[in-house]
Amino acid sequence: MSHQAIAPSGEKYRDSISLVDKGGDRNWVYPKKPKGPLYNGRTWFSISLMVLLFAGPFLKLNGHPLLLLNVLERKFIIFGIPFWPQDLPLFALLMLTFVVFIIVFTVVFGRVWCGWACPQTIFMEMLFRKIEYWIEGDFKAQKKLDDQPWNTEKIIKKGGKHILFYVLAVFIANTFLSYLIGVDEVEKLIADGPMAHLGKFFALLIFSTVFYFVFAKFREIVCIVVCPYGRLQGLMLDKNSIVVAYDFVRGEPRGFRKKGVEQNLGDCVDCKRCVQVCPTGIDIRNGTQLECINCTACIDECNDVMQKINQPKGLIRYASQEEVSSGIKKRITTRSVAYVTILLVLMSILSYLLLTRRAVESTVLRTPGMLHQQQTDGRISNMYNFEVVNKTFNAQQIEVKVIEPAGAELKMVDREKSTFDLGEDGLVKGSFFIILPQDQIKSNNIKTKVQVISNGEVMETIESTFVAPVKF
Ligand code: SF4
Ligand code: SF4
Repeated sequence: MSHQAIAPSGEKYRDSISLVDKGGDRNWVYPKKPKGPLYNGRTWFSISLMVLLFAGPFLKLNGHPLLLLNVLERKFIIFGIPFWPQDLPLFALLMLTFVVFIIVFTVVFGRVWCGWACPQTIFMEMLFRKIEYWIEGDFKAQKKLDDQPWNTEKIIKKGGKHILFYVLAVFIANTFLSYLIGVDEVEKLIADGPMAHLGKFFALLIFSTVFYFVFAKFREIVCIVVCPYGRLQGLMLDKNSIVVAYDFVRGEPRGFRKKGVEQNLGDCVDCKRCVQVCPTGIDIRNGTQLECINCTACIDECNDVMQKINQPKGLIRYASQEEVSSGIKKRITTRSVAYVTILLVLMSILSYLLLTRRAVESTVLRTPGMLHQQQTDGRISNMYNFEVVNKTFNAQQIEVKVIEPAGAELKMVDREKSTFDLGEDGLVKGSFFIILPQDQIKSNNIKTKVQVISNGEVMETIESTFVAPVKF
């Protein structure tokens, strides 16, 4: 006895996903080669994004990469501005603003990102899929090749395709590695050869193999099952979000039109070309689905059909569910206004923090586990640890100076002077004493203020305490 699960909505297409058949096996999708104005637009847009991505590691500003995301050494450069672990709150806010931006964008414009700008879609549809069409032919030829027994033709086509896929995967892995450790380091690894850096070589091999499997085998599984953004669509989209939508009001009842016969049919001729072209194997006429990456291939395909049968284009188009059912376009909703307000607040805070970000970041803390010391001249001292980070690519002259209490002296432990040079993106750690004459100690917990001055400008005034017994 077979059991058919019924989705709460009662719509059967929502109780299963397109990539699994009834027996639980993978439904391999053979999408028809897309063509049309939107596909051409996506191709050119993808080419410009890929040029940016692959050229990105070579773009430098004053000798430094424009973008570096070195998570291993926790060093980040964004648009030529270096960020340090000390910038973590700023970085966290930047990420939060980015996430809210994505949410706002998705609430209003649906999955435009997935179809037009996501690296997974761009690499899959514009590189790997194009190679597949070039070597194996369109969808019917691909299926025929898969079904036929292994012979010379199949070995050459499949072998050639997978070798090209792996070469591309290595290229992509090297590009991402360049964003992680910098292109100079990658060039050095290549020049030194794999034996000189075996660990990094194996890491690169693993990444390349993962990329290869993603594009050769997993494909739409990444979008449907793995990608968290894809999984969150149900939360972000509402009936006013713009998605790739089938106009069921205009299209239904669907059916093949017989010449010269009066039929009470909508504009959909049920040719299923929109289904054949879909890279995730769904029928958009069932409504918005988790699997739809808004690639627009079905729009191009259906527009071509409409043109052939002399009907207006746009049976499948960018539209909201509300727009399709009511015919009223409504872009601004309370929800989108609320998200935009939050986004503007976050952007304002972020801009303020970026504009007031200091060139030098410092910390001063009383050395843990130490109370007070008596100097040879009888004065009392407390020891402090300090750390100064130069967050710029310019050398800084640093001075550490005590300004409170009056009459206190600052003496470095491990260097002669309290003035020193700090090289580009450098870090200096050390210790110093604050020394007070005994007669100035009126309390056993005295407030101290230490200034860190960089190139003559006060960067920070740090407060701490000075502990010592009071003599009566
Ligand atoms: S391509 Fe257009 S006409 Fe053909 S089945 Fe799809 S929606 Fe209907
Ligand atoms: S339904 Fe249309 S837009 Fe969505 S993934 Fe399939 S072809 Fe692309």
